[in-house]
Amino acid sequence: MDCTVRSSSGAIHRDDPGITADTSRTAPDVVLLGGTRPEAVKLAPIVRAMRDQGRIRPVLVASGQHETMFGQALSSFGLSPDVRLDIERPTGSLSELLGELVTTLDVHLERLRPAAVVVQGDTTTALAGALAAFWRHIPVVHVEAGLRSHDPRAPFPEEANRKLVAQLSTLHLAPTARAVNNLLEEGIAGPEVLLIGNTVVDAVLSIARTPTAYHDHRLPSLENRARTGKSRLLLATMHRRESLGAPLDGILAGLRAIVEEHADVEVVLPVHPNPQVRNQVVTGLLGVDRVHITGPLHYAEFCRLLSCARLVLTDSGGVQEEAPSFGVPCVVLREITERMEAVEAGVSVLAGPDPVLIARHAAQLLAESRDEGSNTRPNPFGDGLAAVRAEQAIAHLLGLDTCAPAAAQQAILAKGK
Ligand code: UDP
Repeated sequence: MDCTVRSSSGAIHRDDPGITADTSRTAPDVVLLGGTRPEAVKLAPIVRAMRDQGRIRPVLVASGQHETMFGQALSSFGLSPDVRLDIERPTGSLSELLGELVTTLDVHLERLRPAAVVVQGDTTTALAGALAAFWRHIPVVHVEAGLRSHDPRAPFPEEANRKLVAQLSTLHLAPTARAVNNLLEEGIAGPEVLLIGNTVVDAVLSIARTPTAYHDHRLPSLENRARTGKSRLLLATMHRRESLGAPLDGILAGLRAIVEEHADVEVVLPVHPNPQVRNQVVTGLLGVDRVHITGPLHYAEFCRLLSCARLVLTDSGGVQEEAPSFGVPCVVLREITERMEAVEAGVSVLAGPDPVLIARHAAQLLAESRDEGSNTRPNPFGDGLAAVRAEQAIAHLLGLDTCAPAAAQQAILAKGK
C-alpha cells in the first residue's frame, strides 16, 4: 500500500465569497474557520497543504472576530477568506459574539455542507465553529488541541474555550506530547488523537524564506543596527486581557528598567489595536528613549524582526512558539504558560508581570551569548511538517487516505510516557 503523501499540481484557488456546495465534484469541501491573527497564521499552512494535495477543497471562512488582523495575517501567505461572516457586535461582549457567530455560521454551514469543519486553538471563534458544526452533525477537527494551563482564569476565556472544543471534536490534532497527555488525562484518547506538531512552526519557517519590506520607515535602520552589532534588538508584545491594569503597569516598568540598564538595547513594541492596551502602553512608555512603538506588524515583517532579535518579551502564545525557530530566548510576561515545553527546553523563562523579575531575567538572557548551539536547538513545538500531517489526518477522517497518519504512532508513544 502506498502511504506517502503525494504532491499535486491540481492546486485549487477560489475567491468567490458566494460559493455554494457542489455535489458533482469529487474533492470534498472542508471549512477552516478563523477570526484572529494567530488563527490566520496557524491555519494558513493547512490551507496551503490542502491546495498542494488537491484531494480536499479548503473553504477559508473569516468569522469577523478581529477582521483586520485576520486579513492582514492571511495576506502574508497570499491568502484571503473565501467567505466572510457578517456579524453585529454593538456591545462587544463575549456572549454576544458567540451568539452572533453560531447563528451566522449555521446559515453558511447549511449552504456549504462541508465534510468537516476545522477550528484552531481556543478563541470564541473556535468555540462557535465547534458548536455550530457539532449541532449539524459535521465532524469537528481541532488543531492545536490539548493545550492546558489548568487554571480556568488564565488565560481567560481561552482555557475554558479549548476544553469545551475538545468535548465537541472528532479529530484532535495535538502540537506536542504534553498536549496529547493532557487530552489522555481528560479521557480523550484513541486513534482520533494525533500528535502532529504546531503549524505555527511551518508558518514561521515558510515566511522567513519570503522577502518582505517594512511599512514603518524606522524599521530598516533598526534592523540594520541590530544586524551590524551596533545595538541589541528586543521585540516585545503584550495584549492579554488578564494583563490589563496593574500587571501591564508592572510589565511596562520592567521594560523601562531594561532600557535604563542596557545602553545598547533598542526595543520594538508593535502594540495591539485593543484601545485599552494601546492607551496603557503608550502612556506607560511615553518619552522613554529607545522604545519604538509601532502598529501591528504584518506577519512577514514581524518574523523578519524576530529573526534578528536578541530577546523577546511577550505574553503571546504564538510568539513563544515562534521564537525558538530563530534561537531567540523569550521572557514570558505571564504567571503561568500552557507552553511549558519551551521553559523546560531552556529557551523561555517565566517572569510574570513583576518588573524586577522581568529586568533580572532579561539581563541574564542578554548576558548569555547567542552561540551557534542555541541557534541550532530544535524548536520544541514542531518540525515544520505539521500542516502536511494535518491534511493527511483530515483526508483519513474523510476516507480519502487509507493510511492512518504516521503521527498516530507518536501519540501512542506519548501515552506510554
Ligand atoms: N504577530 C504579528 N504582528 C505583530 C505581533 C504579532 O503578525 O505585530 C503574530 C505573531 O508572530 C504570532 C501571532 O501574531 O504568530 C500571535 O498573535 P497574538 O499574540 O495576538 O495571539 P496569541 O498567540 O497570544 O493567541
